[in-house]
Amino acid sequence: MAAPQTQPPPPPLARPVTSLWGVGNERAAQLARLGIVTVEDLLRHRPRRYEDRRNFWPIQDLRLDEAALTRGSVLALGTKTYRKGTKSVFELILDDGTGRLHCRWWNLPFMEKYFAVGDEVIVFGKPLSLRPRTMDHPETEVVEGGEESFIHFNRIVPVYPLTEGLPQRWLRGLLWRTLERQLPKTDHPRPTAGDGLHLIPRAQAIRWLHFPEAKDEAELARQRLALDEFMALQRDIQLRRKKFEANARALPCGGDNRLIKPFLTALGFALTDAQTRVLREIRADLRGAHPMRRLLQGDVGSGKTAVAACTALMALESGFDVVLMAPTEILARQHHRNFQGWFEPLGVSVEFQTGGRKTISLKPETSDVQHHASRITHHGSLVIGTHALIQEGFRLPKLGLVIIDEQHKFGVAQREELVRKGRYPHLLVMTATPIPRTLGLTLYGDLDISVIDELPAGRGSIKSFIRASDRLPKVWEFLRQQLAAGRQAYVVYPRVEDGGPGAMKAVTKEFEKLKAVLAPFRVGLVHGQLRSQEAEQVMAAFRANAVQVLLATALIEVGVDVPNATVMLVENAEAFGLAQLHQLRGRIGRGAHESYCILISDAKQPESRERLRVLEETNDGFRIAEADLKLRGPGELLGQRQSGMPPLRFGDLITDLELIRQARDLVAGELQ
Ligand code: ADP
Ligand code: MG
Repeated sequence: MAAPQTQPPPPPLARPVTSLWGVGNERAAQLARLGIVTVEDLLRHRPRRYEDRRNFWPIQDLRLDEAALTRGSVLALGTKTYRKGTKSVFELILDDGTGRLHCRWWNLPFMEKYFAVGDEVIVFGKPLSLRPRTMDHPETEVVEGGEESFIHFNRIVPVYPLTEGLPQRWLRGLLWRTLERQLPKTDHPRPTAGDGLHLIPRAQAIRWLHFPEAKDEAELARQRLALDEFMALQRDIQLRRKKFEANARALPCGGDNRLIKPFLTALGFALTDAQTRVLREIRADLRGAHPMRRLLQGDVGSGKTAVAACTALMALESGFDVVLMAPTEILARQHHRNFQGWFEPLGVSVEFQTGGRKTISLKPETSDVQHHASRITHHGSLVIGTHALIQEGFRLPKLGLVIIDEQHKFGVAQREELVRKGRYPHLLVMTATPIPRTLGLTLYGDLDISVIDELPAGRGSIKSFIRASDRLPKVWEFLRQQLAAGRQAYVVYPRVEDGGPGAMKAVTKEFEKLKAVLAPFRVGLVHGQLRSQEAEQVMAAFRANAVQVLLATALIEVGVDVPNATVMLVENAEAFGLAQLHQLRGRIGRGAHESYCILISDAKQPESRERLRVLEETNDGFRIAEADLKLRGPGELLGQRQSGMPPLRFGDLITDLELIRQARDLVAGELQ
């Protein structure tokens, strides 16, 4: 294996900015506020945008609400104060011979000292009125003569993020001089279509980043520098993986079918083709030389639990113990009940482990059936629990497989911690949150990915609607019809967990209201502040249809499986993320009946409405995840803290799929 070809930066670039001509302590302190400490930091300070100063709009041609670049000389200026001097407006009137432009700044009286009558000023902004032509808070730069004016004019110029006291012009000048003096000149031909981006030398990219000569050079530069970032990320991921494969030998967990066969026979449905394909991939891993590290992605309702069960059986058949973890106790208990029903007839012990107990017994319970089975065959046990399983005190010497359900609720660190409890058990992580491909290659780059891309047949469809709260009476009426037809419903109310006593009161009030509106149908209430026993009682009543409506917080977002429930009503839907709403909607449409997801929202902001409309338009979790990623960014989708991603300065996780692939392949070549 060749050493990775990391190029250490040439020493001059590592020097502090104070080594540059014209940068004293005051400027250095300002630059430090922008995260610029070394010369290299300065060279990597990314322009916020570019201005094409080869073309200015005549003032008379400015259009309403359209951002444009123009210039003129200062005709008059002044500051007016009002409200006893507490408020002020500074106004600058420019003239370019074709017309006049009024520029206004509110409550920034010091602006006045930057300008003088007769100054030539460049302005970038949006006219908010044409009579008179007016811009509020435009960006400006006073034109100064002198030898450096060619840096700021007759070219595409960079516009940088600034900090108080740091002038745009000064920073631009500093960058120009630094590029001239500190960066080796390379005159590289422009790449033609088909050339790989990595062919542009980095120095060239840095030049183009700051002073592109054509519009596309800035974007080419960004891509080249993004490639560096993605390659650094890939080196991390691929080296970690290589190290893991060199050190970790797999436990043989492929099984021999003796438990799976009777399990599938008793299951009551045939696996879908997608489930079967995924199980083949998993079995190959469990028989392979390295421990499995696999992410199983399947939309809500695609049947991940059955896949988990078969996977568990393979390890159990091989004589190893298995742990299954879920993010909420409700879901863990549901799994416990299901797996008990499936596995105990096969003679496999299924334990439930809560946070309270320190150790667990792994002896099979001594019912007759079990005794009989475990005397003939030798196999491991299954332990089911929540996050608490990761906590100290939990030991399982023969742990062969760890399954984590609904991974997006678990952090990367937690996942690693659990794995350290045993000797490199196999790991299967399951999630209904579709992973956009860019994240699959970065954030989840150390996992293999399997996808269940097919839902079991015979499901009723789900229709989704957005309604304003003044339509609630109609919605209640509809709900009563569904209940009268024998169906059940969820009503979800946001923010109880973190809302304090006020929020709790609001939910209790909502609960009373709902009971009154829906009587004689019965309503149950679950929220995160209930003791687990109480929550379990309510869930049991709902499963048994002794309670028809479940008022809940987002707690029930994951996993809950009650096929007779056909309505999901979400109040204040705008308070939830898209992925979360899609999860909630996944609680319905699990039986053969038509299902209805009703999102109540009075949100007026166009972004909120656009977000909710995505749900109205599609049931495809993959499209929803990509929309969520676009609208809210990767941090929101995955939880900033647990994402474990270094911040990207040039790379873009939404658009850079091709670059990420290129980086992966280049690094794989490097590490051969
Ligand atoms: P999820 O992938 O969201 O965890 P579940 O595993 O809870 O989905 O499965 C949803 C429902 O579909 C369950 O009631 C399960 O029994 C059922 N199911 C799973 N696989 C199949 C299948 N191949 N055919 C019919 N029903 C299935
Ligand atoms: Mg599930």
